[in-house]
Amino acid sequence: MSWQQAPKANQAPGKRPRRDPEKSAASKLDYETKRKRNFLPSWTEKFPWLRYTEEAGEEYMMYCSTCRSLPDIADTSSSLFKGTGSFRYDTLSSHALSKRHQLTEAADRARQRGPDAPLPPVLTGLHRMEETMLVKMTNIMHAAYYVARTEQPFTHFTTYMG
Ligand SMILES: [Zn+2]
Repeated sequence: MSWQQAPKANQAPGKRPRRDPEKSAASKLDYETKRKRNFLPSWTEKFPWLRYTEEAGEEYMMYCSTCRSLPDIADTSSSLFKGTGSFRYDTLSSHALSKRHQLTEAADRARQRGPDAPLPPVLTGLHRMEETMLVKMTNIMHAAYYVARTEQPFTHFTTYMG
């Protein structure tokens, strides 16, 4: 570990150490800033799938919630699937552009919206993908469509009853 705790200037030994809540909050913030290498909350506005979390006590990580929700088609070896403590904008932007992430987003949208969801451009490239991936993707889409279809008659029924 290269990080070292900075010596506290006015902390006399034995005299109420670490009791001032304001001071300890400030030093914690300082600690986190150094440690985190500046995770910017504004990133989550640009990347809605981005999550930031504190896991296992001391470990600060960011990860892609969409990919994690679809481990069958996500690239499980990617840093944003596993979670990374290296907070770099580049990591996020390249993940957003990666084919595997775009697939999970497409599948996620299909899950949520069903057959009305417009087919995203990424799906037109499916034939170039490995076959197992295609099967997994197709299964997810079918499942989403099935759920949506089974619910649709009720929706229409109430809509047209008016
Ligand atoms: Zn992702």
